[in-house]
Amino acid sequence: MTPAETAGESTAIAREAEPTTEEREAALEAIAAEVRACTKCRLAETRTRAVPGEGRADTEVVFVGEGPGQTEDQQGRPFVGRAGDLLVKLLSTLGWRRQEVFITNIVKCRPPGNRDPEPDEIAACVPYLQRQLEVLDPAVVATLGRFSMGHFRPGERITQIHGTTAPVAPLTGARDAVSFALFHPAAALRSTDVERQSFEDIAGLPAVLRTARARRTQASALQAATRKPAPGSEEKPDMPIPRGLDPEAPAFDDAPTLF
Ligand code: SF4
Repeated sequence: MTPAETAGESTAIAREAEPTTEEREAALEAIAAEVRACTKCRLAETRTRAVPGEGRADTEVVFVGEGPGQTEDQQGRPFVGRAGDLLVKLLSTLGWRRQEVFITNIVKCRPPGNRDPEPDEIAACVPYLQRQLEVLDPAVVATLGRFSMGHFRPGERITQIHGTTAPVAPLTGARDAVSFALFHPAAALRSTDVERQSFEDIAGLPAVLRTARARRTQASALQAATRKPAPGSEEKPDMPIPRGLDPEAPAFDDAPTLF
């Protein structure tokens, strides 16, 4: 079962007239190639392999963790160690597989000894995440742990906001998304309480996706409805302009409105 199937609708509704999957894949691979060769911060000196991220280019859900661990550093893939196993297990409770989402990190190279990434390392690396999110255009950004959460919801505490959503600032690269705060799976491996909470939190993700998709679809419909044809063109709005949005619009007493 895919995220799209879980939410009960086709992704085609929201993806109409957008880049093709092949175009997204090519753009993501171009970013990944830059990441693999990147030396913009000191983490390049100690990494074995950079870890750009991986997953479906046309997914609606992107998971963002903190940084690669030892196994990820060796394999050049995100979340393939014990924490990755738990993430896969969490996804499986929804009937989702990791291939159906996109998984990446705030920093793409392993901090030595799994220490926390430094602010200047995050600042150097975040433009790659921003570009990935611009390409992916997800409906939901699921943050894994406090560093990822801190990027999308600065000033918050993971212990207080896990399992909740907030709008994502378009400056992050995700033009119209909500963030969904989750604990990092590595934290869940260290605490049975956090592990239990992680399973409870992720159970809410399909509903978060459904709500985010419905809002995006409505926003697209409103955009189409309010789009006026260029002077002299034959283009017509896709649907009646809702009353109240265009003072020149006639009254549609019998026509459905969007509200
Ligand atoms: S962590 Fe990011 S900015 Fe630093 S070297 Fe790796 S890819 Fe470049």
